[in-house]
Amino acid sequence: MSARIIDGKAVAEEVRAGVREEVARLKQQGILPGLAVILVGDDPASKTYVRNKERASKDAGIHSEVYRLPADTPEHEVLRLIGELNARPEISGILLQHPVPGHIDERRCFDAISPEKDVDGFHPVNQGRLLIGERCFVPCTPRGILHLLDHTGVELKGKRAVVVGRSNIVGKPVALLLLSRHATVTICHSRTQDLAAETRAADVLVVAIGKARAVRGDMIKPGAVVIDVGVNPEDGKLVGDVDFESAVEVASAITPVPGGVGPMTIAMLLQNTVEAARRQAGLE
Ligand code: NDP
Repeated sequence: MSARIIDGKAVAEEVRAGVREEVARLKQQGILPGLAVILVGDDPASKTYVRNKERASKDAGIHSEVYRLPADTPEHEVLRLIGELNARPEISGILLQHPVPGHIDERRCFDAISPEKDVDGFHPVNQGRLLIGERCFVPCTPRGILHLLDHTGVELKGKRAVVVGRSNIVGKPVALLLLSRHATVTICHSRTQDLAAETRAADVLVVAIGKARAVRGDMIKPGAVVIDVGVNPEDGKLVGDVDFESAVEVASAITPVPGGVGPMTIAMLLQNTVEAARRQAGLE
């Protein structure tokens, strides 16, 4: 058996086309969504992500501002910029690119972003609302994962979902979203005793640990749907947290790396930005 490949690039393109149309409609009503991205330092992967976000925003017709700050920018400068952007009505969404240099308290900066403009969904208000099932900005990667599962037609209700990784950015929110869709959810992490036993029980397996090829085909239940969030550089290429070659023989559907979850993250950022603009204009 060879799994169906879930084409994140194609699904993301559909989402982006929808966003483009929505932005055009909003512009006719005099509303221009705006996204401000802050990048501190020169981490090469972050630079690429920010460039892609800038390009995607412009392509969707969203007003885009990128603040590229030197690595030694003091924390109070970043906080001052966030305060300024919070106050500007033409900025609907603010994103601080993760990670920031070590002398900056990333959590303090995320907390300073107005929850109404927190299109990354990292503010405690949005994370808390997600926990209790209220309307909020859902972090982009988890939201993209759910969209991919829905698009693939995967039934979640009553299914056993296993999430490997418990970060606030991916693992925890994706587990909450799966729970809200009535899956029976297990969260694994670095102290999980028998990871393979847990992953082998999964009908839906989401892996977000940042370890190249850590989950092999023999750790996957035959017929499972596998979502690989990992992005790991290896021999000049990018590979996932799942060993694609062995997993594709066992799973019923799987996301590739690259071209799976990655493109969805940006598409969801655009969607969150448009939703922010709509809400700030009183349209929702
Ligand atoms: P973090 O480093 O913040 O979290 C990693 C999690 O994995 C932790 O909870 C850790 O456990 C757990 N973990 C680490 N090693 C193991 C192991 N051997 N077995 C079980 N659990 C383990 O990572 P992120 O959540 O930020 O990102 C995860 C991956 O997803 C990375 O490769 C990242 O690049 C990628 N990513 C991709 C995105 C995309 O758009 N495609 C977006 C965001 C991330 P513990 O808590 O115990 O330490």
